[in-house]
Amino acid sequence: MIFDYARRLFIVFLLTLLVFMMFLTGNVVKAEGDKVSGDTASWTFPVKGMITDSYGTRSGSHKGMDIGGEIGSPVYSVAKGKVIKSYLSESYGHVVFVRHENGYETVYAHLESRIVDENQEVVQGQQLGRLGNTGRSTGAHLHFEVHRGEWTIDKENAIDPYRVFGHGEVGQLVFAKEQDPYQAVGVAGNPESPPEESVAEGVHIVLQGETLWGISRQYDLSVEDIMQENALKSSELMINQRLMIPGSSPKGQYVVKQGDTLYSISRAQGIDMNELVSRNDLNPASSIYPHQVLMVD
Ligand SMILES: [Zn+2]
Repeated sequence: MIFDYARRLFIVFLLTLLVFMMFLTGNVVKAEGDKVSGDTASWTFPVKGMITDSYGTRSGSHKGMDIGGEIGSPVYSVAKGKVIKSYLSESYGHVVFVRHENGYETVYAHLESRIVDENQEVVQGQQLGRLGNTGRSTGAHLHFEVHRGEWTIDKENAIDPYRVFGHGEVGQLVFAKEQDPYQAVGVAGNPESPPEESVAEGVHIVLQGETLWGISRQYDLSVEDIMQENALKSSELMINQRLMIPGSSPKGQYVVKQGDTLYSISRAQGIDMNELVSRNDLNPASSIYPHQVLMVD
């Protein structure tokens, strides 16, 4: 009996400690523990855009992360290294492989064009090419891979880029040449981009102490609306997490929802199907996915 009580007390103590530690770090979900330590800590993010897919999806076959963005956006090397391949692949499209001094390799695929040559030395943040939609790709995006060692056909050395840059979510905005690509641009210490560019309309950045309920009140929405829009499975939020606010996407843009088709979007937005397709560098058979941003004006 006494033993049982002591055990319960101990569990309560452990839970309290855990909650206290979460509170201390101010960050409920982001687990620093699974980050690759040391050798990639100084890497900076390759492109500006929005995460449209993560590592490990498509039954585990997706060995990189996808960042949707504007065609032509500069794509940068995450670190100093040497271009070991730069060519046009049937699947990767225009693709650049960079080998870094620590033995890692990074891959930048579906580029519109490449501006580096094989065997060229590159510095961190050097532009490698422009974001595009070449190869087996539906929609303008960078497919980015990190390999801890050599790239191989089986991609057995591929690791989740979130382990380098911190955990992100589909729909989250990312910023190029940042060690923390999720940080709000325009905050102190980051003078590169003007503040008005910082947060897209229709996106809410979670501040310390905010709750889903509080945010839903701000936008006159329900908690369910926001959870559904962002495919949230729990109501726990992270500081600096970016939430899509339904019904407030920037003018001329449409954020794809579950169940949408190109046809249903063209009808709902009053835009001609051919126009919609060409405006977004797609074809009528292209697949679209939730959170993809389409131009609709
Ligand atoms: Zn991909």
